[in-house]
Amino acid sequence: MELRYPPEADAFRAEVRAFLRDHLPAGWDGMGALTNDEADAFSLRWRRTLYEHGMLGLTWPVAYGGGGRSKLDQVVLAEELARARVPMGRATDTTSVKMLGNTLVRWGTEEQKRRYIPRLLSGEDVWVQGYSEPDAGSDLGSVGLRAHREGDEWVLNGQKIWTSRGTEGTGIFVLARTDHAAPKHRGITFLLCRLDVPGVEVRPIRVLTGQAEFCEVFFTDARTPADDVIGEVNGGWAVAMSLLGHERGEEAATNPIFFRAELERLIALAREAGRDGDPVIRDRLAWCYTKVEVMRFLGYRILTGYLRSGELGPEASISKLYWSEYHQVAADLAMEILGARALVREGRRPFKHFRTDEPGAPNTTNSWIDVCLLNARSGTVYAGTSQVQRNIIGESILGLAKEPV
Ligand SMILES: Cc1cc2nc3c(=O)[nH]c(=O)nc-3n(C[C@H](O)[C@H](O)[C@H](O)COP(=O)(O)OP(=O)(O)OC[C@H]3O[C@@H](n4cnc5c(N)ncnc54)[C@H](O)[C@@H]3O)c2cc1C
Repeated sequence: MELRYPPEADAFRAEVRAFLRDHLPAGWDGMGALTNDEADAFSLRWRRTLYEHGMLGLTWPVAYGGGGRSKLDQVVLAEELARARVPMGRATDTTSVKMLGNTLVRWGTEEQKRRYIPRLLSGEDVWVQGYSEPDAGSDLGSVGLRAHREGDEWVLNGQKIWTSRGTEGTGIFVLARTDHAAPKHRGITFLLCRLDVPGVEVRPIRVLTGQAEFCEVFFTDARTPADDVIGEVNGGWAVAMSLLGHERGEEAATNPIFFRAELERLIALAREAGRDGDPVIRDRLAWCYTKVEVMRFLGYRILTGYLRSGELGPEASISKLYWSEYHQVAADLAMEILGARALVREGRRPFKHFRTDEPGAPNTTNSWIDVCLLNARSGTVYAGTSQVQRNIIGESILGLAKEPV
């Protein structure tokens, strides 16, 4: 097995490294070394730098403000940014650039691409994801948000929930039911709606850590232009599914880097706590090490398929299941190493609320409590729960019978 990138990746990797040398502050130690206020200010400035140098939307056509580069270059960029401990934009860029941007490139009309892509790249527009509802999560085909046409507008009524960073968005992309008579997956339309129009209300939800990153979004006769449909009217299911693939993209390359950095912090925590001589703790740390190494090889395998076919196959479900379940065990180990100290919150809290704390973060109890209480717990829920991933693996990879409807 050849575990190397093709030679054409080397030239771009050198370019990215030179860019990082020129643009990162002297003595840069990673986002984890900053306070949350500093990290917030830095990530805003850093996003602008990435944008000005064509590093956002790297693979998109130049005509819409993209970089016109290959998928391989995108993977190299993600890997180098992760190694340099800098983010690929702001937290909202996951939904705005990665999800909606890629979806517009694939499904948008010429007019939609020219109107929306430059604005979401510049950060003028920030899009959040309105898929889930109180009665439609894993079973997304059951969405109940209603939309009907009145003249040249759609009128929306209903509710979304678990909208990450809803208060930071300027717009929301939603799945709405537009044909009640059709079979459930065929009556859904993918619509864009601004969040500042009359009839839209965003309500934050406070979670376990005390933070309010999630929102509920209520629609009461909210209106959006008729041409803000992405894909076909009643054909939103195909658009919705292709968007979910972009949630996983280059993660196969970056996850092993983040989880390796977290494991190093965990080993340092064991040393600081004087537990590194404990044979049970050592055994569990060694287990974590083997898991992260396997994650790296699994990542290479998925990337090889992705770069060859341009699509992420059902193997991406193995990766999602693997890292999210690993992370809960690693986070529990951190709690055990901390022991009674874990009852007292102290020090810096994680800046981001997904997956690991930033590489280079100090081993504060706040860091591990937040990672353990919320981030690692939610990993087996968002982007498809573990049970749903197992269904996909069973049906699409192992060829088992489909689950009864
Ligand atoms: C951190 C985080 C961020 C999120 N951000 C967003 C966002 O920005 N926008 C958005 O729209 N949503 C978001 N979500 C919501 C997320 O997509 C849903 O929570 C997820 O799809 C699961 O849906 P549910 O919560 O309704 O659980 P349910 O679908 O009700 O599932 C409940 C339980 O039943 C199991 N289950 C369900 N169906 C099956 C089945 N067929 N076979 C076996 N078991 C099954 C599930 O695995 C789970 O254990 C976010 C969630 C989290 C945790």
